[in-house]
Amino acid sequence: MGDAIVLDTSALISWPLSELSGSMIVNSQVTELEKFSPTRAQIIQSLGLIISEPSRDSISEVSKIAVETGDMSGISQTDLSLVALAYSKEAILVTDDYRMQNLAERLGMEWKSVVMEGISETWDWELRCIGCGTVFDSPERPSNKKREMKECINCGSSLRLRKK
Ligand SMILES: [Zn+2]
Repeated sequence: MGDAIVLDTSALISWPLSELSGSMIVNSQVTELEKFSPTRAQIIQSLGLIISEPSRDSISEVSKIAVETGDMSGISQTDLSLVALAYSKEAILVTDDYRMQNLAERLGMEWKSVVMEGISETWDWELRCIGCGTVFDSPERPSNKKREMKECINCGSSLRLRKK
């Protein structure tokens, strides 16, 4: 299975169409792509991509690590599913998202960047209020949207991720 590839949405949008055949994606990406670029979505459906979903076990394993590293804050359901899919299929994860790369690295997975350079070290995040400075625990679940953080329960300011 060394050659299996899982593509994140930026890869799906920017990779040459000729290289997409046989790569794996998840269902929710097709839905996202239909909103973003209906034409590309149509083409992509005809290219022989494999639409798959991660196993429950792989989702809980990846979720556990994401809570530990703090990457769970503001990661989308789709992105978490993609990491879990690559993890369960022992596939190479193709992504420019530093948080997904960070997770893949922690899980001992192989990953590749799309156009950017990619991370050279891993890190842990803390979720901190920009107003009162309170540090919050990582959420247990992904967000509906990418980079969607909650507000501080003490002062209502925005929460930001910082490297620990
Ligand atoms: Zn606050």
